Amino acid sequence: MAVPTHQAISIGKYLFKQKLLRRKRYPLNLMLEPLFRCNLACPGCGKIQYPHDILKKHISVEDALNAANECGAPMVTIPGGEPLIHPQIEQIVEGLLKQKRYVILCTNALLLERNLHKFKPNKRFTFSVHMDGYGEHHDKCVDREGTYEIAVRAIQAAIKAGHRVITNTTVFEGHDIKNLAQLFDHMMELGIEGLTISPGFSYEKAPDQEHFLNRQKTHRLFQTLLDYKRQHNKKWDFSNSPFYMDFLEGKRDYECTPWGMPTYNVFGWQKPCYLLTQEGYAKTFQEYMESTKFEQYGTGRNEKCANCMTHCGYEPTAVTDGMSSFGKMIEIGKATASAAR
Ligand code: SF4
Ligand code: SF4
Repeated sequence: MAVPTHQAISIGKYLFKQKLLRRKRYPLNLMLEPLFRCNLACPGCGKIQYPHDILKKHISVEDALNAANECGAPMVTIPGGEPLIHPQIEQIVEGLLKQKRYVILCTNALLLERNLHKFKPNKRFTFSVHMDGYGEHHDKCVDREGTYEIAVRAIQAAIKAGHRVITNTTVFEGHDIKNLAQLFDHMMELGIEGLTISPGFSYEKAPDQEHFLNRQKTHRLFQTLLDYKRQHNKKWDFSNSPFYMDFLEGKRDYECTPWGMPTYNVFGWQKPCYLLTQEGYAKTFQEYMESTKFEQYGTGRNEKCANCMTHCGYEPTAVTDGMSSFGKMIEIGKATASAAR
């Protein structure tokens, strides 16, 4: 099951509490970027283009745990850069688990096998392995031969050691559906617990600007992919919420809620979201919530947001919508059950 029952119940309780408190804006998943440095240089990456002195920096364990406490989100995702390069990453994870948060550590898996001993299996802890395609397609996306095979071995080792593993796939223009299908089939065979998928965001700083999807192309690609899944009765267990998948197919229209997945990194709290890196920073979470001009962002309001459909802007909207009424909760339950059949 892509989202375990205990996690769904815990997040449901958190959302219900926010409703009772009549909060209009609240965080759901903290994006905690411990560093921007990486051992790969993917052409679609918008995180590794910082100058050398910034790439050398990382946040301290204390700062990471304070940020999570300050924000209060029940989930923490640790992207990067490559988090396994951080010298105290296991202490950050351990501290977040002690705070009773659900923690997802994203990794390209190159260092995973040799670092597995640092992490104890925990029902609240998940490795999310970056897999952008099957076989050579993945190697091409990350610009290094042999990466797919290394990631597969690392996934097998992590599952064998008792860890929960999911994958995350960023889709770009021209991605062959059959290649994606091969990837998802292979990952499910390996025993991963969920597939996370998102269209690539057109980072201004990414070297490859040609292959980002616009909204119409995103709708077409996801319609084709999900039609393929339905027609071939594929048992792909997506970690994304069913309503976000509808959004990607163009069946639902949402506005982004960037405060749902706020970002903390070496610069502080990034305004307004994980993706836009030139809009300023706040020193505290409270300052981020109070001083960010959220109304100036989102599709139709800001040209930088024109084609954005990424999970970090729209997944919190979809999750909150799914919990907004009893009818929608039943709809989500039915969608989840039919996807698992
Ligand atoms: S693995 Fe991730 S952080 Fe590293 S270069 Fe690729 S996209 Fe960027
Ligand atoms: S649409 Fe929202 S999530 Fe996407 S770039 Fe704009 S502010 Fe960020």
